[in-house]
Amino acid sequence: MSEDWRGIWVVAEHRHGALLAVTGELLGAARRLGEASRQEVAAVLCGHGVEKLAGELFAWGADRVYLVDDPRLAANVDDYHAEAVAKLIQEERPSVVLVGGTFFGRSLAPRVAARLGTGLTADATEVELDPESGLLRLTKPSYGGDVLAVITCPERRPQMATLRPHTLPAPQRQEGRQGVLERRTFAPVREARMAILEAVSEGACAANLADARVIVAGGRGLGDPKNFKLLEELAAVLGGAVAASRAVTDLGWYPAACLVGQTGLTVAPRLYIACGISGAIQHVVGIRRAGTIVAINKDPHAPIFEIAHYGIVGDVLEVVPALTAELRRRLGR
Ligand SMILES: Cc1cc2nc3c(=O)[nH]c(=O)nc-3n(C[C@H](O)[C@H](O)[C@H](O)COP(=O)(O)OP(=O)(O)OC[C@H]3O[C@@H](n4cnc5c(N)ncnc54)[C@H](O)[C@@H]3O)c2cc1C
Repeated sequence: MSEDWRGIWVVAEHRHGALLAVTGELLGAARRLGEASRQEVAAVLCGHGVEKLAGELFAWGADRVYLVDDPRLAANVDDYHAEAVAKLIQEERPSVVLVGGTFFGRSLAPRVAARLGTGLTADATEVELDPESGLLRLTKPSYGGDVLAVITCPERRPQMATLRPHTLPAPQRQEGRQGVLERRTFAPVREARMAILEAVSEGACAANLADARVIVAGGRGLGDPKNFKLLEELAAVLGGAVAASRAVTDLGWYPAACLVGQTGLTVAPRLYIACGISGAIQHVVGIRRAGTIVAINKDPHAPIFEIAHYGIVGDVLEVVPALTAELRRRLGR
């Protein structure tokens, strides 16, 4: 069945009129796969009033953009978006469909896969083509990153995956690169079973963390939610963002949107300062791409010191304010 399924697709994701960085990362991977297998790279762009984003998709490597523009697609209502994407796939029969492993992508992709009766590898971190079989090989950390599972989808088409943001390199933008824009109509067979009544921002946390060059993260060692103020002050001096471990988001000390790790965000700042975080494997998998990791922990045997480039053994409530004061003095902020 696989012979007549051709093309490497990326489902584009956008927010407030701008594409998410993960869409560029997926297009970079799609280009590599497309060039290795001589298949066209296409992006699916669903939304309302989003045509202007097509040029950006071409610049990132799409040869073709399927645009489905409809007021019902203005919000991220999974039912409608899944229907639009699944219909296009049925019509065009791409071999591979890549979706960002964002909150929306992780909700959308299984709905599309279920409609098509195909498989889905969720939360993969690497993607390549098997040189012999031509099958997509997806690497997915399992058991908290202790095992790397390689998953293929030999029987069904398309081969679908969600890929974690920040795990793939972003492609070079090629200014002025042209492609084919195909407009498609949206004709859902039924009304969506869900509606977005109100959008409540969880703070700029997740968006900030995704692009932050400096992240100051707090764990249970802070002892009290009010002590996150100390991290916010340090982050402000360094122009960074604040993140949290699962222990503290579970306790309600900090918003769940700021969670880093296996069940939260994968981040790639240049500097990650872990404050009162033990360094459980489920946390560490989210920070492996950080440039420099600094750990502050009162326990010299805490596992976080095994991956930290610099370690400070001490009470976080004393070390962080001292660090903030010294940085303020040196940086003049
Ligand atoms: C399926 C699954 C998924 C998970 N996903 C995630 C995830 O995505 N992200 C995540 O973070 N966790 C995740 N966890 C939880 C993870 O296993 C740990 O329980 C969690 O990361 C621990 O958080 P913590 O380091 O803040 O707390 P703790 O493990 O309690 O560590 C607190 C640390 O603070 C130190 N400390 C205490 N007081 C001070 C002080 N005054 N000064 C300095 N240091 C101090 C202690 O020495 C200790 O090392 C997951 C667990 C499971 C089972």
